[in-house]
Order: sequence, then C-alpha cells, then structure tokens
Amino acid sequence: MDYQQLIEEVYQEVKTKNPRGKVADYIPELANVDADRFGIALVDLEGKVYGVGDYDQPFSIQSISKVHTLTMVAHIFQRKLWSRVNVEPSGNPFNSIAQLEFEKGIPRNPFINAGALVITDALTTKFENPVEEVSRFIHEVSGKDCVTINQDVMNSELRHSERNTALAYFLKAYQNFDNPVEEVIKTYVAHCSMEMCCVDLARSFSFLANDGYSIYAKREIVTESEARRINALMLTCGFYDESGEFAFRVGLPGKSGVGGGVAAVMPHQFSIAVWSPELNEKGNSVKAIMALELLTDKLKFSLF
Ligand code: GLN
Repeated sequence: MDYQQLIEEVYQEVKTKNPRGKVADYIPELANVDADRFGIALVDLEGKVYGVGDYDQPFSIQSISKVHTLTMVAHIFQRKLWSRVNVEPSGNPFNSIAQLEFEKGIPRNPFINAGALVITDALTTKFENPVEEVSRFIHEVSGKDCVTINQDVMNSELRHSERNTALAYFLKAYQNFDNPVEEVIKTYVAHCSMEMCCVDLARSFSFLANDGYSIYAKREIVTESEARRINALMLTCGFYDESGEFAFRVGLPGKSGVGGGVAAVMPHQFSIAVWSPELNEKGNSVKAIMALELLTDKLKFSLF
C-alpha cells in the first residue's frame, strides 16, 4: 500500500470538494486560526511518516488530549476508575450539563467534558504536577519533545470556563470529585491548550494501533486489553453525539477536538492525524471527517 499516494489523493479530493464549517469561537482565541489550514499525517508501525499539506504545523489538540489523560489513569486506576465514569455513548453535546444531573454525577464516558474532568481530577490526585506529567507522557509515547502549551488559548478558555466549572461543581455535589474545582479546571484547560502537529499527534497514538506497545518509548504503555478498551471507547464515544455517524462513515477508533484535529488508529496498521479548523455543528472537523471517510473507502477496509 502506497500510503503517501493515498493521502495525497484524499487531500486533493477534499480540497476540490471543499466542504465548509465554522471555526470554534466559544474559546475566542481559537477563532484566530487560519480556517484554510489542512494537513494529514499517517504513521505506520515501523515509524515511517507520510504527510501532506499542513501536516507539520502545530495546532490546538483540545479534546484529543483526553485520550492521553485517560491512558495515563486507566493504567493507574484500572477497574476503580470505571466506578466513577461510565463507558456508554452520550448522544448529547460534549458539554451537556443536563445529562450529568440525570445520571447522578456519573458521566456517560471519559470523553465528554464531565468524564474528562473526572479523569483530570484523578490525575490531580496522582501527580503533584499533572500538566507536566501529561506533557512528559506525550513526549514519551511520541518519542519527541513535541508539546507546547499555547498560553493565549489557555487564558482565553480560562476566562470562559463557566460551563466546565459548573460541571465540576456538579460532580463535587455527587461526591465524584476529590480536588479543588479551580485547580482541576486549570489542569484540564492546560492539557486542552496543548499544541502539536499532525505527525507528532499520529506518533502519540501509535501505541493504540500496536496493542499498547510504543515503538518510540520501546515499552508497553498499556496492556493489549487496555488498548482494545481505549479503542472501543474512541469508536463509541470519540465524536460525542456524532460517534455513530463517524463509525458508520469511517469505521476507525478516533478522537476529535474543537481545534479541528482528529486522531485515529487502524489497529495493527497505522495511526493517523488530520487537521482542518472548520467544524460542523457537533464540534467535529468537517474536512477531517471527509478525509478519513475517503481514506477508508480507498483502502477498502476499516475495523469492519
Ligand atoms: N477545551 C474544550 C472544552 O472543554 C475542549 C472541547 C473539545 O475539544 N470538544 O470545551
């Protein structure tokens, strides 16, 4: 399979079709990005990198960082964590408050904001400097010092974090939150404000395509069974209330972020990251989803 030719074809087709969306602006600083950016990087399990477009330009990974944070605590807390967060698709927007109240403070899954806040709370309990630990973890699994925190994006989100703060207080009201709300929100917003390029993001997901073993860290990051579970969660919950549609159209475990990135894995073959900032109404990148749909169509395989 000539991956370079494949992603170039996909890139051109998406450029020609040019589907449009809207850059996220509820975090005002995110709206300053150039809407026409578009890049794809694919990394195979030998570490060979294939890239096209803006594949080496850093962007705000936002919610994609929830996969890294989940991995960090899934390993540490194992089953105990699953009593605090469920593993069901939410069918609701990523920042829904209503659902959390209905479900008495146990978030539907670790990728909606409420669930990710529980994960960041667990990280805060475990580590003295959780933000540094997240960077260190990403550097290890991607084999490179590749993460920077965009202070402007971070401060911008901190000034507009009412909803996430409300979610955290709700969790606390249901005794599902151990640390001070403000401290955890700061950590959460910091890991969402991390910037990486498509290549490094795809590298950082490589262990999930490889039964939990990182070719960069040269060690098992999670067990094979944990890797399968993280992939199952990405497939069922990685795109919020569009997860079914993504599974239907693309058929790969993946995770989106409101910075316009999507990272996905084809188990035993490759990991891939696509970035284009314009989003659909569910908060997922329009061009990234189209690109991945074309990719699995051309490959003639996905998980299915
Ligand atoms: N930091 C963003 C938020 O909490 C992340 C959302 C996302 O990427 N879907 O709203």
